Formats: sequence, C-alpha cells, structure tokens
Amino acid sequence: MGLKRRSFIKHVASVVGSASVLSHLSHASQSTDLKKKVVVVGGGFAGATAAKYIGMWSKDIEVTMIERNAQFVSCPQSNLVLGGNRSMQQLTSDYDSLTSKYGVKTIQSEVVAIDTEAKNITLSNGDTVNYHRLILAPGVDFIYDTVPELENNDKAPHAWKAGPQTALLRQQIVDMKQGGTVIMTIPATPFRCPPGPYERACQIAFYLKHHNPTAKLIVLDANADIVSKKTMFKSAWDKYYADIIEYVPNSTIETIDVENLAIETEFDSFKADVLNYIPSQKAGNIADMAGVNNVDQRWCKVDFLTYESTVKPNVHIIGDAIHAKLPKSGHMANAQAKVCAAAVISLLADQQPKQDLAFSNTCYSFVDDQQAGHVAANYSYDADKKQMVVMPGGGVSLEADELEGEYANGWAENIWDDVLR
Ligand SMILES: Cc1cc2nc3c(=O)[nH]c(=O)nc-3n(C[C@H](O)[C@H](O)[C@H](O)COP(=O)(O)OP(=O)(O)OC[C@H]3O[C@@H](n4cnc5c(N)ncnc54)[C@H](O)[C@@H]3O)c2cc1C
Repeated sequence: MGLKRRSFIKHVASVVGSASVLSHLSHASQSTDLKKKVVVVGGGFAGATAAKYIGMWSKDIEVTMIERNAQFVSCPQSNLVLGGNRSMQQLTSDYDSLTSKYGVKTIQSEVVAIDTEAKNITLSNGDTVNYHRLILAPGVDFIYDTVPELENNDKAPHAWKAGPQTALLRQQIVDMKQGGTVIMTIPATPFRCPPGPYERACQIAFYLKHHNPTAKLIVLDANADIVSKKTMFKSAWDKYYADIIEYVPNSTIETIDVENLAIETEFDSFKADVLNYIPSQKAGNIADMAGVNNVDQRWCKVDFLTYESTVKPNVHIIGDAIHAKLPKSGHMANAQAKVCAAAVISLLADQQPKQDLAFSNTCYSFVDDQQAGHVAANYSYDADKKQMVVMPGGGVSLEADELEGEYANGWAENIWDDVLR
C-alpha cells in the first residue's frame, strides 16, 4: 500500500469511542483467569479489525483469524485501478503485523463448515478449530439467479471483491476496440458500497475519455435513480463525461446471452464489448452454513450492542453480512468490529457490554484522478428501537474537488493502518 501520506486536515478518523471502551476493558481482562478462544472468520475490513483489537485489548484471549486469501486487497480505491489511477499493489497488504504486534494467530484457509452446537469450525483441509465465541466477518457473496452461467465466468467480471477480477476487468477495458461499448449493471439495493458503482462509472469513463474517446459506457441501474451522492455524480457526468456515459435507471436485467454479451432488460436490448455485471448480494456463504442468515435467507440479524446473532448464541457477525440501516462500507465494518471486539471481551469476562454506543461513517468517491467528494453520517444506539439510528451532523458533497481527493487518500491510509497495522 504505497500511497504517499498526505496532510490529513479534516477529521476522518475511523475510531469508535476508543477511550471509554478501553477503560471499560482493562477491568475485564484483569478478572479473566483462563485463556478463552475467539475465532474470527474473514480477514477483511471487519474481521482483521476485530482480531487486531481483541489482541490489543485483552491478554486473556487467544484470538485466531482464518482467511482464505494470503493477502488483504482493499475494495476502497479499487475502482481507481479501472481508471488507471491506482495499481493493485497499492491496494494490497500482508497480515504480518496482526501476529507480530497483537499476537493474532492467522490461518490461511477456507472455512467449510460450522457446528454452532459443538462450537467448532472445519477448514478445507479437514482440521477443526474450537471456539468459545465465533466472529463471522465474511463480507458478501453473489446471487446469480438471473444469469447462473455468469458465476465463475470470466466473460463478465463483477470486480466487486477487489483482486484478480479487478485486474481482469481493467485489462478487458484496456483491450477493448476503439469505439466499443462497456456496459455495467447495478443491482437493486441493498448492496456493498452504495456510491461504489457510480464512482466506478466515473473511473471507467475517465479511462475511455483519455484512451478510447469514441467509446461508450452504458450504466444499467436496477434502481430508480442514483442511490448515493446523486448531485455530485450527476454534475461530474455532465461536466466531464457527457459524451461517454449513458445512464439508464429502472433497468432490471431479464436475460443475458453470455456468449455474445447481449442483454435484455424489460424495456430495451443492449450489446456489450465489455460487460461488468455486478450481481445482487447476500451475506457471505458461511453465514448460511452457520444458520445465521435469518433475514430473507440473505442477511444476518444481530444485537447492535454485541453483534451477536439473534438466533445463534456465541456467534457474532460484523461488516457487510449484517442486516442494518447502516451503509455496507469498510468504514462501518471497521467501527462495528471494534464494538464487537469490546463486547466479546466483556462477555467472556462475564461483564455487561457497553450500552451507550456511537460511531460514524465516511465514504469518499473519486470522479477522476484527483477530485473526490464525501458522504458522512453519525449513528448512536437507540435502546427502545434496539437499532443504530442517524444522529445530527454528517452531510454530502454536491461537487467533487481536489482537496476532498486528498482527504480521501488520507482516509484510505488511515483505515488501512487501523485495520492491519
Ligand atoms: C468497488 C468498491 C469500492 C468501495 N469503496 C469503499 C470506500 O471508498 N469506502 C468504504 O468505506 N467502503 C468501500 N467499499 C465497501 C467495502 O469494501 C466493504 O464494505 C468492506 O470490505 C466490508 O468489509 P467486510 O469485512 O464485511 O468484508 P470483506 O472486506 O469483503 O472481507 C471478508 C473476508 O472474508 C473472507 N472470507 C469469506 N468467506 C470465507 C471463508 N469461508 N473462509 C475464509 N475466509 C472467508 C474473504 O476472503 C474476505 O477477505 C467499496 C466496495 C467496493 C466493491
């Protein structure tokens, strides 16, 4: 992750009430005699943060993080790879500091089964790992019911998990013939990163404008309108990409001829040279294995004081996988992870978790190589509603600018450090 550290003027710290959480916890760890076992599945924004903070805040817990990938690759800023404004290397980091600085045991493996009665998980090599409390942070998996042939098919990469698919989509865009057509599809909400698809449209259009100026980008959005930072994105599209981007709302995909990249929506037909198909989403598949995806068999309902499942005791879920009136963002995943880490430490010490919680979300989007804008919101726990509710403050950029581009880079550096180092 080699972004140059920039002056970090604005408040973008992603920390959630750390001081009060810490004082609460020092007592918790002193009164714990036995080493309890916490297993975290998933080493993304949520899981790596939870593992790190449990390791940092408690010496009485053995924390193990299981992640299928050898390295962390950041979705935030991955759209910039498509525009040619970041490299994959800048988004990639190892997990070494989690072990060397915080004592987290890391295992690179796929979790293939979870027995919530016996309190153990099974890895792809057949090994089992026991836990006292389990934290699931699997992110999202995809629903390919409209076009099952697209699953595991390189013809139309989603690039909605940063990694090889991001590099593949970038290469397909670069290799496209002059004057060709890129089509991206956006599923109905809820999905990971509400502004993400519209930022992606800017980045693809930015590349086309400079390298393939007669090409087109058609955005087929299943939603009735742009779902986040609408004014800012519309302004950027009008100003910079009016000849390139065609935005078509209410475009639910009905069929795709995968061989020919021919797409039918209810109202129209389209033909792509490059297709970025972003499928509908649900909690990562392990939520299903653990039986915790109890909202439409898609998302996981949790107690917002502890992130414990409402159906399986001792199983906590954090990040994109949960059902919440909170955006599915890396910033949120990081904040939820800290609340969960503190609550798990308290619960394992037979103490009551903290009851008054507040955190915030900030999400930046780039409209070109330099200019960005933000959306921000504050949330606190409402004990009557048993929900995180929106508090005053926050706001949204109406125009992108270069200063916000610097804030965006500062935010990224800051959160990568907070998750991993
Ligand atoms: C293009 C794009 C741009 C974005 N931009 C922003 C942004 O600017 N700001 C922002 O805040 N958010 C942004 N997001 C959203 C952000 O990336 C997600 O909200 C965040 O990654 C969620 O964290 P998570 O830990 O829940 O999931 P993830 O970060 O996806 O982590 C889940 C991890 O679990 C692992 N895993 C899953 N199942 C298993 C298993 N069975 N065994 C082992 N490991 C498993 C996965 O390999 C993965 O590493 C963006 C997303 C995208 C797609």
